[in-house]
Amino acid sequence: MSLPVVRPIKRVLIANRGEIALRIQRACSQLGIETVAVYSNADKDLLHIEQANASLCIGKPAASESYLNIPAILAAASATAVDAIHPGYGFLSENADFAEQVEACGFSFIGPTAAVIRLMGDKISAISAMKKAGVPTIPGSDGMLSNDAQLNKQIANKIGYPVIIKATAGGGGRGMRVVHDESELIQAIALTQAEAKAAFANGDVYMEKYLQTPRHIEIQVLCDGQGHAIHLGERDCSIQRKHQKVVEEAPALGINQQVRQEFGELCAKACVDIGYRGAGTFEFLYEAGNFYFIEMNTRIQVEHPITEMVTGIDLIQAQLEIAAGKPLSIKQDDIQLKGHSIECRINAENPQSFIPSPGTVTRFHAPGGIGVRWDSHLYQGYTVPPFYDSMIGKLITWGSTRNEAISRMQTALSELVIVGISTNQPLLQRILEDEGFREGGQSIHYLEEKVLK
Ligand code: ADP
Repeated sequence: MSLPVVRPIKRVLIANRGEIALRIQRACSQLGIETVAVYSNADKDLLHIEQANASLCIGKPAASESYLNIPAILAAASATAVDAIHPGYGFLSENADFAEQVEACGFSFIGPTAAVIRLMGDKISAISAMKKAGVPTIPGSDGMLSNDAQLNKQIANKIGYPVIIKATAGGGGRGMRVVHDESELIQAIALTQAEAKAAFANGDVYMEKYLQTPRHIEIQVLCDGQGHAIHLGERDCSIQRKHQKVVEEAPALGINQQVRQEFGELCAKACVDIGYRGAGTFEFLYEAGNFYFIEMNTRIQVEHPITEMVTGIDLIQAQLEIAAGKPLSIKQDDIQLKGHSIECRINAENPQSFIPSPGTVTRFHAPGGIGVRWDSHLYQGYTVPPFYDSMIGKLITWGSTRNEAISRMQTALSELVIVGISTNQPLLQRILEDEGFREGGQSIHYLEEKVLK
């Protein structure tokens, strides 16, 4: 192993927008680190720009001309002499070429190395690396499917229907197709290949057993890239719509300390095996008491605050310290889960049709009180632009019990006032009142099949 290089971080460029840019701004400020905000010309009124030490407009509203514009971001980093770049989530956060260019220009990339992003960004190579590390995976084709129809039928028969065809480069819930019997198989493979090629410029697909009532449970890890890794418990993100998370909670109901420890250790060990650096998440489907790895996210995730609430660890600060080359200061024994936390994603969308609802917030009031956290860049008079993701904030509550976290969430949701645009608040309220949600431990289909039906 090479010797760790300590590269003090005094100034960070935040290569993102919205709530996560503000979240990174807060962490930097608390560590005495200066920040540079970069923004598109649709985003000049973002809250973190006011807080940052410097700010630069990097291009037009379309993400391809601003938040995905690598030369513009690198030029801004050079002009402002930053030490490191934080990519947040989405945009360039899992783009290995970006990470490579950031490092080649002499800045620290706050995340893993380009090689590890590449390894985990391709689902086929990620699954194979996890198998090697002893992490359980879903029975599947063990690699890319060829165009040999006979062979593909044999693979599907061996796995057993239903199966799912997935794009190795897929993301955001796209590039997947469920197949219930042999008559649909060959066409489904061809369609998924064509879609994947168009959407991700990579038509490689693989096959997995389709699990019918799994829960989505993921494990948070931190690894310093110097041989030390810890796990910070799990999150249950099963309340989803169109494979997108809506409500998340930590810890997951029904996962006892022994199982948490066993799978957490497996993930931490896998991180060391692949030379991981930074914060990361192992996503699993969980069915009938078994965990099956589906993918790893090599960035900070939207739902990271619920882990912060039950562990007391600031994950963004931890990312910054790791990127500066410091060995992990937190030991596994320091991680004691306390209480329960829930997150509701607040989206600017019509609560029935789910059509995005950009526009100006004419009246705004943030909820508060004990155990309530509001991570958002919203303010009265702010205009939500139509160009980006519709998530405008995250409402997070903590309670000593799950029931307390739920009741605090209900109060907080009723206090949150956002007038001028539509939000999914009514849907979130319905979920929080739902008997099955309150019982807990529902599958990934529960929201669509039981609440939204
Ligand atoms: P993405 O990278 O697009 O998020 P994932 O591989 O993480 O794709 O899968 C997203 C979601 O799709 C999962 O949370 C789950 O709801 C569903 N899914 C993926 N693979 C399977 C499977 N083998 N069986 C059942 N559902 C699956």
